[in-house]
Amino acid sequence: MPVGREQIRGIDVDAEGRCAHYHTELDVVANRCTLCGEFWACHECHAELAGHPFGRVGEGVPAVMCGVCGLIMDHATYVAASCCPSCGHAFNPRCLLHAHKYFQPKG
Ligand SMILES: [Zn+2]
Ligand SMILES: [Zn+2]
Ligand SMILES: [Zn+2]
Repeated sequence: MPVGREQIRGIDVDAEGRCAHYHTELDVVANRCTLCGEFWACHECHAELAGHPFGRVGEGVPAVMCGVCGLIMDHATYVAASCCPSCGHAFNPRCLLHAHKYFQPKG
């Protein structure tokens, strides 16, 4: 892992945050769990390794990390971006289908 960025936990995680479950070119985003405070490659990695439910984050909390450059975003910034605002790597739009696993509902 490069110095100066958070480590991404999970199963078979590569240098850019892909894992055994999500490993296409676009699957480079990691999410932080509020219970353990760690960044995880995906919710399935967390379910298999963490031993507790994923601690979903609220609005405005910087908890989404680009696995390529290490930029950490809040949910709104991530949702609005189709690619990383820092390094320009494209994000997988299908990740948003799982947003309820990582983020508390609005309101
Ligand atoms: Zn956790
Ligand atoms: Zn995974
Ligand atoms: Zn990036």
